Amino acid sequence: MSNRDFLRQTLAGTLPARRHGESAGFVWRWLDEGVMELSPSGRAQAAVVLSAGVHGNETAPVELLADLLDELLSGRRRLAVRLLVVLGNPAALRAGRRYLVNDMNRMFGQKGIADFTPSGETARSLVLSQHLLGFFAVDDGLPRWHLDLHTAIRGSLHPRFALRPFRARGYAPSLLSWLEAAALDALVTHRAQGATFTHFSSESVDAMSATLELGKALPFGANDLVQFSAVSRALAALIGGLPLPVRDGPPLKRYRVSQQITRNSEDFALLIPADTLNFTEFQRGEPLAREHGREYRVEQAREWILFPNPSVALGLRAGLMLVEAPEEAG
Ligand SMILES: [Zn+2]
Repeated sequence: MSNRDFLRQTLAGTLPARRHGESAGFVWRWLDEGVMELSPSGRAQAAVVLSAGVHGNETAPVELLADLLDELLSGRRRLAVRLLVVLGNPAALRAGRRYLVNDMNRMFGQKGIADFTPSGETARSLVLSQHLLGFFAVDDGLPRWHLDLHTAIRGSLHPRFALRPFRARGYAPSLLSWLEAAALDALVTHRAQGATFTHFSSESVDAMSATLELGKALPFGANDLVQFSAVSRALAALIGGLPLPVRDGPPLKRYRVSQQITRNSEDFALLIPADTLNFTEFQRGEPLAREHGREYRVEQAREWILFPNPSVALGLRAGLMLVEAPEEAG
């Protein structure tokens, strides 16, 4: 395993000749297509899952993880944590598409796959859930992390941001410190149960979980990885047991979800321009969307929009509205 073999073989859909081995200070095991576990020979400081490519057209974070893995395997970087690297949806990565049948990042956790027609994606979401549970089944008392790396489809007034799943139990401060060190521009906290990969890890194994949106999606090879350097450094610090980089830039902006816009009816129409940027501000009373028997309007004095998308399947999220939450603890 070297020189992006893990990525190359995952994209080719081939099995590696060797499925386990020893490298500089750790052993690695290829567990499944796009799933690799690394265990340090010394005492681990944390157990960390890093995933990317849950959406197959979001390639920059996949390249970022492949580079990180290469640095570990070539001995250029030291490993101080138990690490599970996951390339989420290899079939969609090969096709360069967000998904083939249904959005896999709506299939995890309690709600699960019940609402979806069986497909490669429903099967894959179960496989990934099992690997994640298996990885954390070892009760070693280590801090548990799961960072799921994405890029957004549309432009964003905050280019790099994180989403934290809803947690009745509250949040560990170390996740916030890491997000700040990674030079992210904003943090959005969910207020309701979801079906994303990070909701699942937060809920099922009590991991410090966040979905990271790291800029705009481009095809393989067209990504300018320089814009990801701060995140890359913060990831390297996390898995290398090194001090976090010092944040450079304005403080992290904090939001929480105020309302979800759901497409429940065939006549659903978004009433804002299709190219509205993420984190565009709206004033109380402005109409946002309309469908049979229901209209969505801005409810608070000011709300900011995230992920507006009228063409989602029925019953799924067509957008989120946010309010500022600067004072929120944790
Ligand atoms: Zn995504």
